[in-house]
Amino acid sequence: MNNNISAILQPVSILSGVGPALENKLAKIGIRTVQDVLFHLPYRYVDKTRLTPIGALKAGMQAHIQGEIELTQIKYGKRRSLLCQITDGTGAVLLRFFYFSKSQQQAMQEGKVLRCFGQVRRGPGSLEIVHPEYRHISEGDEPLLDEQLTPVYPITEGLQQNRLRNLSEQALIKLRADKSSLNELLPDNILNELNLPRLADALDYVHRPPPDANLNSLLEKAHPAQIRLAFEELLAHQLSLLELRKKLRTEQSFPFPASKELVSDFLAALPFQLTKAQQNAYSAIEKDMQQSLSMLRLVQGDVGSGKTVVAALSALKALESGFQVAIMSPTELLAEQHYANFKSWFEPLRITTCFLSGKLKKSEKEKTLENLATQTPLLVVGTHALFQESVKFGKLGLIIIDEQHRFGVHQRLALLEKGQNQTYLPHQLIMTATPIPRTLTMTAYADLDHTVIDELPPNRQAVTTSVISNQRREEIIERIEDTCQDKRQVYWVCTLIEESENLQCETAIATYETLSEKLNNLSVGLIHGRMKSDEKERIMRKFKEAKIDLLVATTVIEVGVDVPNANLMIIENAERLGLSQLHQLRGRVGRGDQKSNCILMYQAPLSDMAKQRLEAMRYSSDGFYIAEKDLELRGPGEILGTRQAGLPTLQIADLIRDVKLLPDIQRCAKMLERKFPQNVKLLIRRWVGNNVDYGNV
Ligand code: ADP
Ligand code: MG
Repeated sequence: MNNNISAILQPVSILSGVGPALENKLAKIGIRTVQDVLFHLPYRYVDKTRLTPIGALKAGMQAHIQGEIELTQIKYGKRRSLLCQITDGTGAVLLRFFYFSKSQQQAMQEGKVLRCFGQVRRGPGSLEIVHPEYRHISEGDEPLLDEQLTPVYPITEGLQQNRLRNLSEQALIKLRADKSSLNELLPDNILNELNLPRLADALDYVHRPPPDANLNSLLEKAHPAQIRLAFEELLAHQLSLLELRKKLRTEQSFPFPASKELVSDFLAALPFQLTKAQQNAYSAIEKDMQQSLSMLRLVQGDVGSGKTVVAALSALKALESGFQVAIMSPTELLAEQHYANFKSWFEPLRITTCFLSGKLKKSEKEKTLENLATQTPLLVVGTHALFQESVKFGKLGLIIIDEQHRFGVHQRLALLEKGQNQTYLPHQLIMTATPIPRTLTMTAYADLDHTVIDELPPNRQAVTTSVISNQRREEIIERIEDTCQDKRQVYWVCTLIEESENLQCETAIATYETLSEKLNNLSVGLIHGRMKSDEKERIMRKFKEAKIDLLVATTVIEVGVDVPNANLMIIENAERLGLSQLHQLRGRVGRGDQKSNCILMYQAPLSDMAKQRLEAMRYSSDGFYIAEKDLELRGPGEILGTRQAGLPTLQIADLIRDVKLLPDIQRCAKMLERKFPQNVKLLIRRWVGNNVDYGNV
């Protein structure tokens, strides 16, 4: 490298053909430098390096074939089309064109030879390719085959594949001329041990796979060059969380002395004994909060494992030390329920409890804000509204976030900033009911300490789950009648995914109307996301007080709602939901001591995958098992979605596909921190960029 800034760090405009217009388009997909071109990776490949015998074609394949025209004809039907059958002696295939010119048609004479490329599909009579790319081959003038697989890049409006191929070609030439211009950030011993190529070679390979490259392994992103890149990306994310953790671990917090009366008064008043797992979780938290460094602990416990009591104990510890505590819930309904709970627990202990949500009346809100600014000790329960600009805490000592899976790293950061004042950072407790597999936990929550509540309170009956076609709706309705005759209550959950919340509500309203008519001797209630919060609260309270027998709901009841007398749950279109979400919903029943049932209704026919997924629900009630299955059987849409678990968005890696890399990544991250701290920052900057700003935390 000479003294000049190396070519690959220069703006993309140094490449030939890049004027201001193209520069703008490239900027839209994040390409500003030559190096960015190198990190803009192909997402698939086209293989024109060899010809496939026509007899070997199968539906779904990408085919590059050559054959002689046997027959060309125009077919008149709903749509006029040009059909051309070609053969190479091993078999025949039909080319179908809906748009064609007279001269195109005339050139396709019997006996002429065509070379085509396209996607094979099953046509009405035989295999066919619709609108293949094709060219005529004349005798003695057979064009050569491509020497390499052709990369296909993510593009944007007005940006052609050929253009990107040309840019990556130019960028690769610069890279090859000076490989050292690209900083290799992974240590040699790791690369050797894991058999991964060097970065420059990996990039070269994925942009221009050599002639002998294996297309399938490339398409599955299983080639070492691709694994190398995914590895590095995941590593960078892991490191960014570890950095965050380090940063936070240096923040001072107020230590709370050992518990005194409040905690023991509360325990004495509880109608049950803590489980061993609850005790362990609380001891870990108690120990953390006795330190002068701020706590950052995740408590993961299946639905119904009793996390709320653990939160209450932790809150009391902060309160008796004279601090304020804020509990944040993801939904209005949950916040209200928590508020009701905490109020009934804490008022006898003479602790002020208040509530804050976006939906409060102005005067109520002002009063609460004033309390938060001045009164201590005090407990506030609320939604995101707790961490808005206008909220000032007088002496916040502990933040509890319930059902954390709705909040990602970024929210965690925003929240901490909020709680911070000049001298100390509040302790932070995060509770989640989304059991995710251990390897993923360590990646997603590498910045947190972690405790699992792995035991349910005693006398819980497992929920019996059945999978029933919605053609048997009438039987299910009889089950509801029987259940309600026994003075038990029922949930009926209407689900629709990928549709608007409005549509969900419409469906719930329609279902509510039909069910009310059919079950006119029962009290049927309806709750959905479009209702006002006081309306929802009123309905929920009526359901809790058993004034409603059957509650028709949208997935708003997904998390946390607690009605122990409800022992039958019906979930419509269960096949459309992710396993983790089904598990959450099912957790609404089986909270009392009587036998409970969950009916997963589906719309036939079920795909094999959907069958296996529902079977997993029937077979197990263990959230961790279900999470593992969810990982194994990725179904349609978002299941163990990155959004749900608060996992990062990734460019090349896929946390689920690449899950087997995670243990090595964790090990490598620790090693880099110890031995190559200078590379840590560079890796984070390369892959995570400025998306996460640790500076202010
Ligand atoms: P989650 O972990 O899903 O938030 P909750 O805290 O809502 O669970 O607790 C579920 C139910 O179990 C509540 O009715 C709660 O009062 C009850 N519960 C919690 N801990 C115990 C315990 N140790 N023994 C008996 N019941 C308990
Ligand atoms: Mg809960």
